[in-house]
Amino acid sequence: MKHYSAFAIAREALRNHTGWQRAWRDAQPKSRYDVVIVGAGGHGLATAYHLGKNHGITNVAVIEKGWLGGGNTGRNTTIIRSNYLQDPSAAIYEKSRALYETMSQDLNYNVMFSPRGVMMLAQTEHEVRGYKRTAHANGLQGVQTEFISPKRVKERCPIIELKGPRYPVLGALWQPRAGTARHDAVAWGYARACSNMGMDIIQQCEVTGIRSEGGRVTGVSTSKGEIDCGKLCMVVAGHSGRLAEMAGFRLPVESVALQALVSEPIKPCMDVVVMANTVHGYMSQSDKGEMVIGGGADGYNNYTQRGSFHHIEETVRALIETFPMISRLKMLRQWGGIVDMTGDRSPIISKTPLENCFINCGWGTGGFKAIPGSGWATAEMVANGTPGPLAEAFGLERFREGRFIDESVAAGVAH
Ligand SMILES: Cc1cc2nc3c(=O)[nH]c(=O)nc-3n(C[C@H](O)[C@H](O)[C@H](O)COP(=O)(O)OP(=O)(O)OC[C@H]3O[C@@H](n4cnc5c(N)ncnc54)[C@H](O)[C@@H]3O)c2cc1C
Repeated sequence: MKHYSAFAIAREALRNHTGWQRAWRDAQPKSRYDVVIVGAGGHGLATAYHLGKNHGITNVAVIEKGWLGGGNTGRNTTIIRSNYLQDPSAAIYEKSRALYETMSQDLNYNVMFSPRGVMMLAQTEHEVRGYKRTAHANGLQGVQTEFISPKRVKERCPIIELKGPRYPVLGALWQPRAGTARHDAVAWGYARACSNMGMDIIQQCEVTGIRSEGGRVTGVSTSKGEIDCGKLCMVVAGHSGRLAEMAGFRLPVESVALQALVSEPIKPCMDVVVMANTVHGYMSQSDKGEMVIGGGADGYNNYTQRGSFHHIEETVRALIETFPMISRLKMLRQWGGIVDMTGDRSPIISKTPLENCFINCGWGTGGFKAIPGSGWATAEMVANGTPGPLAEAFGLERFREGRFIDESVAAGVAH
């Protein structure tokens, strides 16, 4: 694989870009792999990458029913932050945020990580208390956040209206090294690195069945034939319930559509990410100039991957209270993804009732930020057969034992 560098760009410019190679091989399935990962979203690809990089396991296939990154990974609003309340969450999200800082260099692929800062507005007294508590917890966890005054909110983001009609801005939880990255590039960068390690990324290949014998998985049935495996890892987000059903167990996960939209491009007007959870909307500006706007999840379970009109109306109406200037913007595109929600709004990184079968899911509305840390932790679990320190609190047994990791404030409506 050719190294990407400024020199390579200059060389290709001189020879009319004839020397670029495909970023990853278009692989066809072999009859057996040591590890099969189902789902080529960010979490599946990061798991494969860390299996190779951290544990030297490279006889790996990543199987994807559509195109890689075509699920939630390529549909999200790309917010990266680690200002969660509970210790296990802060640990895995901060590990992830730290890995994003060096991801472009590690993968030799520009993922456009932009640590522009994220502010979560406090617009009720309840939120002020909640965010101050989170800032104190983050201080103990080694996550750099602070509660800032309305004056500092306005300095950081002049287009905010502090005295909205219903909810004035009373302050914000500010994380200066949080931000955004280019979502497709994260998937593509991992795919390129995995392919370079000799792994097979098999697209347009749907897993339709899971074969097991004596409490162990022996292989998967796919639209491209049977594939045997030593270990199986399911990383399919909104389709986790369906995969678990194929393997013969049930998950405490519900699938719903989550929607987002972008406006027409405008001149730079906002260089931070702002989340307004009380009115329920959040916004950042993309490098192209579009305002990227996140909306809510549908209020009923479904597997539709598309937007609906009432969500545009609700989200824009809510945001206009805090950002009156967007009332004059045209909205260009709207879409949806199928997210996998757990009751405590925390993920599942776990062993399953089948001995050599593992699952990573439940990231719900906020798993883009977790991709590198989750891949690291899931690879550790698959390689060693048991979860390591980053993942051990996120096992499936917590729902039976009542050890919930309640992140409904940090993740219930936010992303
Ligand atoms: C509108 C929206 C906004 C969001 N905003 C944010 C945000 O700002 N910040 C943030 O941190 N998170 C956000 N998220 C959440 C984030 O996108 C997800 O948590 C994350 O991308 C999940 O990644 P994944 O790899 O687990 O799943 P996916 O990217 O969905 O990958 C799973 C893959 O599995 C494949 N698959 C499913 N079934 C099968 C099968 N039977 N056989 C083979 N392949 C199969 C799918 O095709 C899919 O490609 C948002 C999500 C949405 C929808």
